[in-house]
Amino acid sequence: MRDYLKFYIDGQWVEAKSDKTVDVINPATEAVAGRVTLGSVEDVDLAVRAARKAFASYSQTSREERIDLLERIIAEYQKRFEDMAKAITEEMGAPAWLAQRAQAAMGIAHVQTSLQVLKDYKFEEDRGTTRLVKEPIGVCAFITPWNWPVNQIACKVAPALAVGCTMVLKPSEVAPFSAWVWTEILEAAGVPAGVFNLVNGDGPTVGAALSSHPEVDMVSFTGSTRAGIEVAKNAAPTVKRVHQELGGKSPNIILDDADFQRAVGGGVASVMMNSGQSCNAPTRMLVPAKRMDEVIAIAKAAAEAHTVGDPSGNSKLGPVVSEVQWTKIQGLIQKGVDEGATLVAGGPGKPEGLETGYYVKPTVFANVTPDMTIAKEEIFGPVLSILGYDNVDQAVAIGNDTEYGLAAYVSGGDPAGVRAVAAKLRAGQVNLNGASPDLMAPFGGYKMSGNGREWGDHAFGEFLETKAILGYAPKQAAE
Ligand code: NAD
Repeated sequence: MRDYLKFYIDGQWVEAKSDKTVDVINPATEAVAGRVTLGSVEDVDLAVRAARKAFASYSQTSREERIDLLERIIAEYQKRFEDMAKAITEEMGAPAWLAQRAQAAMGIAHVQTSLQVLKDYKFEEDRGTTRLVKEPIGVCAFITPWNWPVNQIACKVAPALAVGCTMVLKPSEVAPFSAWVWTEILEAAGVPAGVFNLVNGDGPTVGAALSSHPEVDMVSFTGSTRAGIEVAKNAAPTVKRVHQELGGKSPNIILDDADFQRAVGGGVASVMMNSGQSCNAPTRMLVPAKRMDEVIAIAKAAAEAHTVGDPSGNSKLGPVVSEVQWTKIQGLIQKGVDEGATLVAGGPGKPEGLETGYYVKPTVFANVTPDMTIAKEEIFGPVLSILGYDNVDQAVAIGNDTEYGLAAYVSGGDPAGVRAVAAKLRAGQVNLNGASPDLMAPFGGYKMSGNGREWGDHAFGEFLETKAILGYAPKQAAE
């Protein structure tokens, strides 16, 4: 049992002002794995004040001091790597291999990329007599979800620390264990008091208090579009910067000249990974209609190769995060059946022998049409929808026919062909022929998938203000 009842404020683990707690459920066992306190407006205020006080000195630290700090965080993270992976498996059910190789690994990787960027980031630039200076924006509030919990924390905290901001983190109340381990890592690394603060709690209380707090200069949110809109509304009266990383319904266009075994098989695997709980999952596969039968055979075999089971063992897929998500996913799978899509693999109900735990069968629907619910709504489960197209223009039109624009995927044999399709897709990140992830590449959405960009050097911009100093070098102008 993890009884994580304190908050980390001003460099101390402190008692919460609120005594409300919430149980954290292990989705593999449905048993209570621990508790956290649900904070109050007063807890938020204390944390924000600590961050504000710390900003005065932390914003003045040198690049070298912050390089040192990030190096110490990496060293401490390495010591706690196994603990981090275990916490993630317990809180949200990621299988051990994924918790280690991807989930916990992404947490440390974002600190490493921030360190790399910081080493030669240009905070100053002269243009004629004018100097442009990039300065830390101030106190940041971070509100994060449960699906890639430490990845989403690290990709905000690391660049914010790198540029000299101070911050308050509110992780998901559904999966708060990794945030606790993360905080212990930062404490061990010697992050100065007040620079990083942790307050647990729910969205409507702690999330809303952070979004609306007048002493918070920017809020960076990852989660559902619904909550992201609430954050922006609450932030509006204080005119703070709002960064939003929201949902997706990403198209995966497979062109006629693609290697179908690789593209279809890889597309299925990408959707199933993390039990489908990734905002950039390629959940709509678009294939030449005339080759639907061939695609179905490959997709069926690929989906059925995904073993589901106890995440602490060797299974490829663990459960989904919660009963709420399980029920929502089941409703959408049933909608797919009711609306007439062809069920190729999986389907409603729990996989055989897995009655306890929030397990979902790896599910593939084919002959999905753009008007079906499973072609439009983000399912956030291991469910793929395959749609047919008659020509490439139609594929692009269907691909873009969504309120989202986070990611898109294209496969084909001719580099010019895939590039031409990429140019027409309205998405923040386009992946060609199953390219490996690039942590230096900006990550973020068009349309209702969000505002702003995370990861690599682009992340720095989210946490910086630009000051233009005119007449900074008047002599130079006279020469
Ligand atoms: P959510 O948006 O409700 O929660 C994400 C974070 O926002 C949590 O920390 C939550 O406490 C907080 N929050 C909730 N309401 C808030 C409010 N009014 N003000 C401030 N903060 C608030 O998401 P969820 O319930 O964890 O998941 C629901 C759906 O969100 C999923 O089915 C999925 O579609 C989507 N989702 C997307 C991502 C992504 O990376 N894009 C991640 C997780 C969930």
